[in-house]
Amino acid sequence: MLSDIEIARNAKLKPIGDIARSLDISEDYIEYYGKYKAKISLELLKKLESKPNGKLILVTSINPTPAGEGKSTVTIGLGQALAKLHKKVVVALREPSLGPCMGLKGGATGGGYSQVVPMEDINLHFTGDIHAISSAHNLLSAMIDNHIHHGNKLHIDPCRILWKRALDLNDRALREIVVGLGGKRNGYPREDSFIITVASEIMAILCLAEDLADLKKRLGDIIVAYDTEGNPVTARDLKADGAMTALLKDAIKPNLVQTIEGVPAIIHGGPFANIAHGCNSLIATRMALKLGDYVVTEAGFGADLGAEKFLDIKCRMGGLKPDEIVVVATIRALKMHGGVKKGELSQENLDALHKGFDNLKRHVENMRKYRVPVTVAINAFAEDTPDEVELLTEMCKRIGVKAVFTDVWARGGEGGIQLAQEVLSVLENQESKYEPLYDLDLSIEEKIEKITKELYGGSGVLYTPEARREIKRITKMGMDKLPVCIAKTQYSFSDNPRLLGAPDGFEVTVREVYLSAGARFIVAIMGDIMLMPGLPEHPAAENIDVNENGEITGLF
Ligand code: ADP
Repeated sequence: MLSDIEIARNAKLKPIGDIARSLDISEDYIEYYGKYKAKISLELLKKLESKPNGKLILVTSINPTPAGEGKSTVTIGLGQALAKLHKKVVVALREPSLGPCMGLKGGATGGGYSQVVPMEDINLHFTGDIHAISSAHNLLSAMIDNHIHHGNKLHIDPCRILWKRALDLNDRALREIVVGLGGKRNGYPREDSFIITVASEIMAILCLAEDLADLKKRLGDIIVAYDTEGNPVTARDLKADGAMTALLKDAIKPNLVQTIEGVPAIIHGGPFANIAHGCNSLIATRMALKLGDYVVTEAGFGADLGAEKFLDIKCRMGGLKPDEIVVVATIRALKMHGGVKKGELSQENLDALHKGFDNLKRHVENMRKYRVPVTVAINAFAEDTPDEVELLTEMCKRIGVKAVFTDVWARGGEGGIQLAQEVLSVLENQESKYEPLYDLDLSIEEKIEKITKELYGGSGVLYTPEARREIKRITKMGMDKLPVCIAKTQYSFSDNPRLLGAPDGFEVTVREVYLSAGARFIVAIMGDIMLMPGLPEHPAAENIDVNENGEITGLF
């Protein structure tokens, strides 16, 4: 079997102009970034305003395990399968971050015969959007320290600076740092820290903004610090919003690429789902809905994180109506949820599959709470046994959901035909009556409690004194009627990564709460989750190389 990168390299790519034409995008709206990548002008959205939207299909999954679920692979494969059925389809995905690319997981462009290409470009610098976000983020950091250095007219309290620095790599050494050392000419020494760019509020803002004007307004609203009297100081107060917007003026435009079968893919924005809101930009989804009759999009990690925030934050804010949700699972991962160790996954184990099924069941039931029709896609692996397949099909049937086996990793779109047919049949026969899980009028604690009890299966929520204080402050500021963006481990419904399956009766601990006034949500951090990940003992970077012809190896 060829590696992902070898399969991607063997693919015959169409010039990106051809892909644009297949979506009836005229030359006037395309900005070329080489032969195979382009940005789409935002003017096109205005032009297509009155055109009806296509159908929106969200792909999500069970809680991920190291066994791998293949959500991106299934998203791309489903798009390819719909195209094989002669549907006009657009795949909408997030831009990969260099953190996981160089760290544990590798790239995020799908796998096998369901990938987006050019995969090396998309996984590395792509069209520079994430670099632009890091630059805008760090410009604001520099302007804060500079303001204090030059007299601090805004009376920023150096002990209450909220804005951290950002870098799109995993680097644990930067979690807690001291800046401004070296004497008076280097500024004011203070504690600071780095977060990964995909968790930056600017990434969230870019992904939720309506247009350039809204982007600028939201950037200006970012609260960077409190002054000595406890009043918020914003990016606008520092006069940073104009320059930050200028740095992002191209990054706000969605990127057009293709799958290895030539299906159009819009890839734009890349917040992680564990430490941010986890889905591609609103502009990209809106553009895709105007260009295609069917849009297949993905929300990161399990449905407790990515899909919850897609449904409660993005769809609500952007006025989107998802028409169907596809929950991806693998037999291997369900067996892990049922207690099997990673090394023993190749052996048949019906008991573990039966036990681990509870994880899938809860996700399916959760998604139904949003009143959107649900389908289960089982991403097939070579070692799945006929008895395991039968048992899983039967268990899904019992909870009233159809499980369709897909083989898009090994066979591309052809391997997803059955899934595509089922998705189309559900779209035809079942109507989405989408509604968010919670009401924005609830208090911050009530919103967090509702998500914890109704989606996670927990029994209650504990708060640190700092978290309580911040909730009080946000409420006093009158900003408590915003949605909540929960940051927690992706591995479990709970905030403990070791609690697999479908645990209940647990309490979650909200360690930190802060207001993202520009993104317009309230972040609640649960458990030990870090906004700056670390690298594993053997990072993926150790295996990445490039030969004298410029061909990259080891990127998977
Ligand atoms: P996710 O989106 O859930 O994180 P990806 O689609 O990125 O998962 O897939 C993760 C890895 O698993 C990729 O390297 C991909 O090639 C591999 N993979 C996905 N599906 C299969 C499969 N059915 N068989 C073998 N490997 C697979």
